[in-house]
Amino acid sequence: MKISLIDIGSNLTHDSFASDRDAVMARAFDAGVRRQVVTGTDGASSNRAAALAAAHPAVLSSTAGIHPHHAQSFDASLRARLSELLRRPQVVAVGECGLDYYRNFSPPEAQRAAFVAQLELAAAAGKPVFLHQREAHADFLAILKDFRGLISGGVAHCFTGGRSELEDYLALDLHIGVTGWVSDERRGQALREAVPHIPGGRLMLETDAPYLLPRDLSPRPKSRRNEPGFLGHIAAAVAHLRGETVEAVAASTTQNAIRFFGLNA
Ligand SMILES: [Zn+2]
Repeated sequence: MKISLIDIGSNLTHDSFASDRDAVMARAFDAGVRRQVVTGTDGASSNRAAALAAAHPAVLSSTAGIHPHHAQSFDASLRARLSELLRRPQVVAVGECGLDYYRNFSPPEAQRAAFVAQLELAAAAGKPVFLHQREAHADFLAILKDFRGLISGGVAHCFTGGRSELEDYLALDLHIGVTGWVSDERRGQALREAVPHIPGGRLMLETDAPYLLPRDLSPRPKSRRNEPGFLGHIAAAVAHLRGETVEAVAASTTQNAIRFFGLNA
């Protein structure tokens, strides 16, 4: 049986795909990735992601949002642009948005303001949020709690936390996005312990390509560029940790993504 997967976080508009994007998309499709949700991280990339998804409606959807690194750029005109993008059918979620206090490329105060504004946009659009959080768990949770009743859903994208962070997210009925981080025996230990405890109805898979090439992928591409076509490798790692077949993980994560993003199956 050929598995069928959905990559809920693919940065397909990234420059590293500029010269061979069609080939990357074809390889992904051949590897069973039937749909990718292309991540928007700022105004320009959200526009590009929406245009790319509109050009390939059978295999691509997109998100529109401002990554916390770019929170400082959030203003009324960006808000209007996101709101316009969110009216398009191929734009299925707000994000990525959230808080990242690891590098603080934007001041925390600006990050919190942009996050709140995007949660308001999600509530108004009736679309879920694609969430990014790094070293900001308490503030992130507090803000989300205020909005949880107003938004249709949220996915903790590139979840790397352990059991207690997982429990906090599940208490807010969030979905959990797992990347190739799960293959990292050094840095991914907490995640590897948490993966078996993610309820089957809350788990989704993502490559975060071109980032986060799975460490144990073989052969490793010389470019070290991750591709959506490697999603099956992540599905296999997750299946192994959960004691499930890869077919079962593919089926449940695909159903979850279809339901969560309201995709045309
Ligand atoms: Zn992220």
